[in-house]
Amino acid sequence: MSGNAQGPVLAVSNLSKSYGPTRVLADVDLSVQPSQVVVVIGPSGSGKTTLLRCCNGLEVADRGRIEVCGTTLFSDGRLLRDSELNALRTRVGMVFQSFNLFPHLTVLQNVTIGPRRIRRKAPSEAVEQARALLHKVGLADKADALPGTLSGGQKQRVAIARALAMEPQLMLFDEPTSALDPELVGEVLQVMKALARDGMTMLLVTHEMNFAREVADVVVVMDHGRTVESGPPSTIFSAPSQARTRAFLQAVIER
Ligand code: ADP
Ligand code: MG
Repeated sequence: MSGNAQGPVLAVSNLSKSYGPTRVLADVDLSVQPSQVVVVIGPSGSGKTTLLRCCNGLEVADRGRIEVCGTTLFSDGRLLRDSELNALRTRVGMVFQSFNLFPHLTVLQNVTIGPRRIRRKAPSEAVEQARALLHKVGLADKADALPGTLSGGQKQRVAIARALAMEPQLMLFDEPTSALDPELVGEVLQVMKALARDGMTMLLVTHEMNFAREVADVVVVMDHGRTVESGPPSTIFSAPSQARTRAFLQAVIER
């Protein structure tokens, strides 16, 4: 992975993808600079998840270009070769709406398995790192618990610790709180806020508008696979230029 201290961590240009006749991404341009938090908002079905999944190679676009830390992940309809793709995936952490923890492994094992298997970390080092990360997400006392005994908010915090254990240069979050009971949303947002404060580069999809307003450097509005507009939260939330943004925000706020 080539280091590029100055360039964007993620650069997406002219990205397009269709499922059959359905255009899911239409010439999407987006970039995330080091330590930036970019929040993608938009109605259901607008292509947000597909965009995120393209950014770590889980999904293959049809056209356009994606660069991660200066390395081309996708270009001219083709992904990197498998070996390179795996190396790149370790640089991009992803947290999903459904936590996807290994149910038969303890919390600690869920966090150490990636570093041990993929990054070939020594067990003692992986455990030490995992304990520090669990402390960071407020779950030091749950190291030996099985995921099934945890609340949704705790599971999602384990999933965040697990992604961080790979020492990613970019974290992708796809509606990380939307499967949670309302009273558990705050604890996950707190962890994400702390990450942003620590300078983690983040691209996230959320319907938590207060969080977006507070934490985002840039808000990107998507609709029907297109970027409708983007800008600082103060502009997007208070003085959006596009009617579609206004309509979406109104619908979300009135819920
Ligand atoms: P969002 O995350 O904004 O709700 P998605 O990226 O999940 O949007 O989906 C965008 C559109 O692509 C939707 O119309 C969805 O039905 C369609 N879509 C997503 N995944 C698939 C798939 N695997 N096959 C066919 N259509 C899909
Ligand atoms: Mg989605």
